Amino acid sequence: MNDGERFRVLVTDKVSAGGLEPIRSDDRFEIVQVDDSSTPAFAEALATAHGLIIRSATTVDAEMLDGAPELRVVGRAGVGVDNIDLDAATQRGVAVLNAPAGNTVSAAELTMALILSMVRGVAEADASMRAGEWARSRFKGAELRGRTLGLIGAGRIGGEVARRCRAFGMRVVAYDPYLTDERATELQVERMTAVGDVLAVADVLSLHVPLTDATSGMIDARAIRRLKKGAFLVNVARGGVVDEAALATALVEGHLAGAALDVFANEPLEPGSPLRSAPNLVLTPHLGASTNEAQELVATEIAEAVRGALAEGDLSRALNAPAIGGDALRALAPLFGLGRGLGYLACALAPGGVKHVDVRYGGDSDGALQPLTAYVLMGLLQDILGADQVNFVSATHLARQRGIEIARTRLSRHAAYAEYVEVVVRAERGDLLVAGALLGDTHARIVRIADYHVDIVPTGTLIVLRNDDVPGVIGRVGTILGNHRINIAEYHQARMTRGGEALAAIAVDHDVDAEVRDALLELTEVKTAVIVQLGNR
Ligand code: NAD
Repeated sequence: MNDGERFRVLVTDKVSAGGLEPIRSDDRFEIVQVDDSSTPAFAEALATAHGLIIRSATTVDAEMLDGAPELRVVGRAGVGVDNIDLDAATQRGVAVLNAPAGNTVSAAELTMALILSMVRGVAEADASMRAGEWARSRFKGAELRGRTLGLIGAGRIGGEVARRCRAFGMRVVAYDPYLTDERATELQVERMTAVGDVLAVADVLSLHVPLTDATSGMIDARAIRRLKKGAFLVNVARGGVVDEAALATALVEGHLAGAALDVFANEPLEPGSPLRSAPNLVLTPHLGASTNEAQELVATEIAEAVRGALAEGDLSRALNAPAIGGDALRALAPLFGLGRGLGYLACALAPGGVKHVDVRYGGDSDGALQPLTAYVLMGLLQDILGADQVNFVSATHLARQRGIEIARTRLSRHAAYAEYVEVVVRAERGDLLVAGALLGDTHARIVRIADYHVDIVPTGTLIVLRNDDVPGVIGRVGTILGNHRINIAEYHQARMTRGGEALAAIAVDHDVDAEVRDALLELTEVKTAVIVQLGNR
């Protein structure tokens, strides 16, 4: 979109209106609200939308994205993005963002509600009262005080559950391979090195992990058997983590005293599921984030993320892009511009199709290498795919899709330059190295092409020649360019050895066409001539 134009954000799935304040109050944005994404009004609005905000009811697939040519960002007000085809979005350069933090406390509080309900039989006692009974002796519960909470996963929600259970006087043990010592101490939880260690000691086992290959089916029949007889199990994380049939059996057989589930392998839970008739089981229909507060918080979180992505180019929340924040992005822009130029140059000069790219960075910013690689790939692909077909979000994915292997290398600081980037390309007929540096943090220079040391500003049109190092060649090249009314801005001649092969990098003020290139190639000393368009001078 052009400067001065407004960003249109289409909001659907009844996302909390109050939470959209960050974009409503920004006059660069226009909100279009269509609650039902199956209507023609939605499709019509989508055709011109730059951003789309959804919850779980809308499925974003390739077909929908084809009807959204302007779309740059999809924001999910909530955590799960199972309803978004990430590959299809990435291919089209659409960033997918989510709002993972807004529902943390609500999910933790529901976990507490379920734990308390389980250990005191609240739900069953309520059902018995409604059936006309007064069965006090049947509902003798247990205290949480002094018992052990076993956590699998101690991230945002697990951490909040730990705090609350500590307040109830529980000992808390946790298995989370990514939990740092510092955070374990802060949460007052004991770290366990294996799931089995938690299962062995937990009176109440609470799951707070994402659904991954490692956690899918983690709590199966074997794991349940390893829990103490009379233990309780609660799952407010993701359905596939628990083997539901094994859980129903363990409840029927009485190995577990009780369980509570808010999430299920298939949602909605089938009417005939054995879980619906299992004893001592509290069931809720995925209510973890169902509070006004959580809905408003996730709407605000995603509105801020979508605003940042569209207006500031901040894709730090993007699930399908390398992470970099807004301020960092601004500070690193000259480095990224250099990376893009080097990628473009590498592609233009590479001997044949590119098979492997190694982006090497020697500079001060530890977080720069990953996004820098995306910019290099953007430059590398922009002529292959068309500049409008590749962007920061899609570059890495598109490169891999083309079979280009990508490596990243952190170099130690360069002796001569504070910020230094090398792009090493392995192509079908040989390797190529191009390198650049920032002078004074902002002034980009190309400092090396293959074995030649050069000093070129990476803008405008560049003619790169390989020629014999013989007297008079610079004059002859200059004459040809002059005859075609092409003004030379800078002429860099670098040679390996006297009288051997030399490289000429000539920055010119005009576009250079094939006729000029052919005329240069007719000079007997000139071996190769490549024209590289490096962007606006
Ligand atoms: P989080 O990313 O903050 O925490 C997840 C933790 O799990 C991390 O600390 C991670 O290190 C750990 N982990 C990852 N793989 C693990 C493994 N193999 N073994 C042990 N630990 C592992 O996420 P969160 O916000 O705390 O959410 C936790 C879960 O709750 C997610 O599955 C999320 O989708 C779910 N959730 C459910 C609801 C609901 O409505 N029921 C609401 C919000 C979140």
